[in-house]
Amino acid sequence: MSLAADLIRRIEANGPMTLAEYMGLCLMHPEHGYYTTRDPLGAAGDFITAPEISQMFGELLGLCLAQVWLTQGAPRSVLAELGPGRGTLMADMLRATRGVPAFHEAIDIHLVEASRPLRKAQKAALKGHEVTWHDSIETLPEAPLLLVANEFFDALPIRQMQRAGDGWRERMVGLRNGVLTFGLSEPKPMPLLAHRTQDTTEGDIVEISPVAAMIAEVLGRRITRHGGAALIFDYGDWRAQGDTFQALRGHAPVDPLDTPGEADLTAHVDFEAIARASAAAHTRLTTQGTFLERLGITGRAQALARDLSGDALTAHVAAHRRLTHPEEMGTLFKVLGLYPVSGEPPPGLEK
Ligand code: SAH
Repeated sequence: MSLAADLIRRIEANGPMTLAEYMGLCLMHPEHGYYTTRDPLGAAGDFITAPEISQMFGELLGLCLAQVWLTQGAPRSVLAELGPGRGTLMADMLRATRGVPAFHEAIDIHLVEASRPLRKAQKAALKGHEVTWHDSIETLPEAPLLLVANEFFDALPIRQMQRAGDGWRERMVGLRNGVLTFGLSEPKPMPLLAHRTQDTTEGDIVEISPVAAMIAEVLGRRITRHGGAALIFDYGDWRAQGDTFQALRGHAPVDPLDTPGEADLTAHVDFEAIARASAAAHTRLTTQGTFLERLGITGRAQALARDLSGDALTAHVAAHRRLTHPEEMGTLFKVLGLYPVSGEPPPGLEK
């Protein structure tokens, strides 16, 4: 049975499903899910991410976390990544920190990854390192936690709410003449959105991700209890407003209901919701461009450029621009840091 047929059968049996349920099945269905069946990254795939654009991204993040580790007294720690894709970011972080052998001796590498094809790619990228994989963040060991997540939270299922009087209507996926279609629920009270009654009016759309909040809660608890820090990169803003649900296939937008399981589904990340759900301290939300500049990406780019010429040099210059320039990923992408309440923000980020 195709995923579309499976979805239709579920809706016929149980009625319309939330967007979160739809998104979760499209991305992670055990047999037909977008991530469970493929490696979607790169030029031939559906989208490209910062670590795939340039090694400098992972190098600077690795040095940033090694500095956090030093500042916090160099404890035995878990170096973890959520949704590591092809493993490129982790490999670049480990290579860049080879000059700090005590760091390598003090860390255990843990990856949270639901996709089997991507786990395979990660294993190949991290050959020579001992790595433990997890299906969920809950099973990460209780220890100081140095964690990165790049374009992970935008893949987590969201619910969409539309303001209706004092309540909210929820956007649902149902059927019309046997075809998947969007609809709205009856208005209902949403205590989770109590803080959004002031800044929204009739008809406004707000997105919430219960899974993202749950993960942020776990992250905050670990960092508060054991120390460490988390760096969360994604597109999005401090506060979610409006419909940001989108489907990408072959680097182009498509209708999210047209080809379930074949397109990447994402939504902008509500960083305020992550900060609120976490008990740890959080940094100011900072653009990726500013963060990378503060960590010295320009110097690193110049050093790498010295050994390059021709097409390789052109590509390297373009990659630097793509990561940092305001018209490219530089301001669209943001980073939020989580760190212990009694500690200091990670390098490159401010209170
Ligand atoms: N961080 C990588 C890949 C981003 S794509 C990069 O920057 O290139 C999103 C990643 O998150 C993929 O590895 C995907 O399999 C994983 N993922 C998405 N939802 C997940 C979930 N609910 N649990 C675990 N991994 C998930």
